[in-house]
Amino acid sequence: MSIELPNGAAAWRARARRLAERDVLPIAEEIDRTDRVPDPVVRALREAGLFGLGIPRSWDGSGGDARSISAVLEELARGSAAVAVLLAVHLSVCAAPILEWGSDAQREKYLRPLARGDGIGAFALTEPGAGSDAGSLTTRYVSEPSGYRLRGTKMFTSNGVSAGAILVFATRDPALGHGGISAFVVPPGTSGFSVSQRLDKLGLRGSETTELVLDGVPVAPDGLLGPEGSGLKIALSALAGGRVGIASCALGVAQAAFDEMLRTVRRADEPWKRTLVARSFIDLASARALVDRAAERKDAGAAFVTEASAAKLVASRAAVSIASSGVDVAGPEGVRAGGVAERLLRDARVFPIVEGTTEIQELILGRNLLEPGRFPNS
Ligand SMILES: Cc1cc2nc3c(=O)[nH]c(=O)nc-3n(C[C@H](O)[C@H](O)[C@H](O)COP(=O)(O)OP(=O)(O)OC[C@H]3O[C@@H](n4cnc5c(N)ncnc54)[C@H](O)[C@@H]3O)c2cc1C
Repeated sequence: MSIELPNGAAAWRARARRLAERDVLPIAEEIDRTDRVPDPVVRALREAGLFGLGIPRSWDGSGGDARSISAVLEELARGSAAVAVLLAVHLSVCAAPILEWGSDAQREKYLRPLARGDGIGAFALTEPGAGSDAGSLTTRYVSEPSGYRLRGTKMFTSNGVSAGAILVFATRDPALGHGGISAFVVPPGTSGFSVSQRLDKLGLRGSETTELVLDGVPVAPDGLLGPEGSGLKIALSALAGGRVGIASCALGVAQAAFDEMLRTVRRADEPWKRTLVARSFIDLASARALVDRAAERKDAGAAFVTEASAAKLVASRAAVSIASSGVDVAGPEGVRAGGVAERLLRDARVFPIVEGTTEIQELILGRNLLEPGRFPNS
């Protein structure tokens, strides 16, 4: 079935807003009570062509630039952060690196189904003992005549249960350091692959967060993405793009929290509430400016890593701060379980952690600002 696709960020935003208001917002509380995004929502995303965003139409994608992706993720996150994160992970850290690093044969096999939404993408870098220092991962691979075999445990893999393709990072030998790490596209369901835990969380509860065990998982020769040994480079470049997406999700939560605050504050006209609203407005506007700037630079083909880190840091901080002020403004209603204000605060609190913590963004910013051009895309 071919669908009519919007042209330009404003049109994509309008499509995502309609979808969020019709299919997501009415069941946001239900999504918060589950540990996965319900099938009808996934179907709506698919029918709207959102799984193909940023992927050329020649690969069954929907086209669209970084500004379009940013607008869509923001609008979805205004409805449900979990839904937005499902799409952000699929697009930015699974489909985008396969598009960038894959051969045409790999794009045919792995990217085309992702672009159509026939499978959801996931990204497995983090391990129980390797998060911020991703280069210290210990999941191993060995080469075999029939391809490769992976062994290890991955932690906090989003979309881990429903994934149709997972980008897995593994090392030939930890003694080789960063140059020993390679990236593999792993179709779940392969022998030796299992989801060992579904993690319950403070926020983003409807987003699947999983622990994966790879117990001798066989990977075909065409499962190796990019040259052997370039895995960490692939992971870091995917994360840089991913941060524009995650910043957009955080911006959506910040906007939703601000809207909720205005709705509540109108009921009681007190000076301290006006101060919180004023500060929140400035936080929101600053975050929006940085997110737009990062997406614009990415679209222009300019270096954007510094801007992506700044956008991710400021937007996630804004989401937490505005959602927290929203709880204050709402008074006792603000802390009631099942209320909008408390859900937004719980969701917001996860954003300073995912795709690189606030401290790691500060490290990237400091490094790039003091040593410009030393690192790719800085
Ligand atoms: C909901 C959720 C979804 C996620 N989804 C995915 C996913 O799909 N795929 C994936 O691979 N990972 C995913 N992650 C993992 C996430 O990227 C990591 O949690 C994050 O990178 C931090 O790693 P860590 O939890 O091991 O913390 P650590 O690296 O152990 O850090 C602990 C604390 O120490 C600080 N710290 C660490 N190193 C430094 C340093 N050098 N200087 C200053 N401070 C430092 C950190 O900022 C943090 O506050 C997800 C996490 C969450 C919570």
